[in-house]
Amino acid sequence: MSRYDLVILNGTAVLPGLGPARMDIGVKDGAIAAIAGSLSAADGADVIDARGRHVLPGAVDSHSHIGIYRPFSADALSESTSAVAGGTTTMISYFRTGSHYLNKSGPYREIFPEVMKLSAGQFRCDYSYHVAPMTNAHLDEMEWLVDQGVGSFKLYMFYKSLTLSSDSTKGREYTMSDDYDLGYLYEIMERAAALSRARGKRISLSLHCENPELIRTFIARIKAQGLTGLEAYSHARPTLSEELAIEEAVVLSHAAGCPINLLHLSSGAAVTKGIEVKRRYPDDDILLEATLHHLMLNWNNSGGYTAKVNPPIRTPRDQEVLWAAVKNGDIATVVSDHACLTKDKKEGDFWAAWPGFGGTGFLYPALLSEGVLKRGLTLARAVDLVSANPARHFGLYPKKGAIAIGSDADFSIVDLEAQRTVTVEGLHSAQDFTPFEGMKLSGWPVVTLLRGQVVFKDGQPQGQPLGGFLRRS
Ligand SMILES: [Zn+2]
Repeated sequence: MSRYDLVILNGTAVLPGLGPARMDIGVKDGAIAAIAGSLSAADGADVIDARGRHVLPGAVDSHSHIGIYRPFSADALSESTSAVAGGTTTMISYFRTGSHYLNKSGPYREIFPEVMKLSAGQFRCDYSYHVAPMTNAHLDEMEWLVDQGVGSFKLYMFYKSLTLSSDSTKGREYTMSDDYDLGYLYEIMERAAALSRARGKRISLSLHCENPELIRTFIARIKAQGLTGLEAYSHARPTLSEELAIEEAVVLSHAAGCPINLLHLSSGAAVTKGIEVKRRYPDDDILLEATLHHLMLNWNNSGGYTAKVNPPIRTPRDQEVLWAAVKNGDIATVVSDHACLTKDKKEGDFWAAWPGFGGTGFLYPALLSEGVLKRGLTLARAVDLVSANPARHFGLYPKKGAIAIGSDADFSIVDLEAQRTVTVEGLHSAQDFTPFEGMKLSGWPVVTLLRGQVVFKDGQPQGQPLGGFLRRS
């Protein structure tokens, strides 16, 4: 009998904090049981030869939106297929009540079990949820949600205008919420802080930082000039709005003692503000996040109108400031913010078109090509950004995010040499377009393993969905 269920031989493993090393890996019962220089094929019931490849810990894509625009279970299946194609083995997805998703409001005690049911058996990767309290009644459900394994929450700062504006009927229809303002934000922060202290773990609040009053003013101005397109959209939701929202958020989180995640910093100004507030409050727990699309796209890209997203795509200069912050460690996590939708939702009136698009299908290739190969990001840091750090900050480390004894045997085995063009088909998503089409990337996964099982190989998903829910409490 073999000592291990599986051995991965001859590969270059990228170990957290240590970087690349020639290592063989033994897997038993879905976990990493050996990391050694000299295992042999006889040691494993199954053998993967990773000669010439890099063996990375499976990516933990800590920002995605499963079910936001499409039927929930179908979206979980198709988009987790895209995830494993891009080397992601854990998705942490946002969920909220209101318009989109399940199109309803009500207690999470009723709705969250429905989300769990719709998720079961549909994911090809492991998954977990961040949840957004939307109504006053949801505040009293935060502790219950933590007990269900939800370890983090979210607030969309720009939804405030939807409930406060003169158009508030329409806004309330969208959010199905109560007074969604800074006072409400502070109450969420107080509760998350209290839960963090009581449970002795990081229970954080993720923030979409854009200021609604400024957006309203600037959108009116840009529309009055008759402008559309990505450049106009960027001016309509200017970086000033992100900077102000970050200021508001950190003043409150500092007072409340709440760990926060400043999501998808889109611009040089926003990331500079993020770095500044971290220095101002050195003892506060403030995580800065960047997305693939803000790193990879600018408003001149060929993706054009399909790349409409909040916060908007900015300039090449903004991209380079973001990459610098990714390289030097100011930005802790890189994510896809994956939200699958079809091209028809992007067509017609530019201002009414739905925001967002998918990207999890090339999380590792994007970071390895544009970061490691093009800009000198180290492999160790690349792995930290998309695997170890999100796992650490969202309560999954070292089960996830590490190549270490006892960690789940989640791997993305990639080929850094072979270059491939991004195509819609190659992303294995239900999305029928991609703003990234035609980009040439290296570092595509050859094999993706979830808890020792091959879930993606030779360009195709393998077997039945094996993903399970990860409780983060
Ligand atoms: Zn998002």
